[in-house]
Amino acid sequence: MKMVLLGTGDAAGCPKMGCWCPACRDARKGGKSRRMRFSVLVHNEGKVALIDVSPDIRWQLI
Ligand SMILES: [Zn+2]
Repeated sequence: MKMVLLGTGDAAGCPKMGCWCPACRDARKGGKSRRMRFSVLVHNEGKVALIDVSPDIRWQLI
């Protein structure tokens, strides 16, 4: 079995709407602070399952 973590952000991701802290400012500029919301992709014996799918899943799968 192989698990792939898609995104490493918290429930809101980064940048957060309306937040102007240094991390969110860096994320808006495309810096390393940009984090998508968390999803998990599981591969097992030729089958694939998505677990805890976040609203960012479209970008994570692209
Ligand atoms: Zn912030």
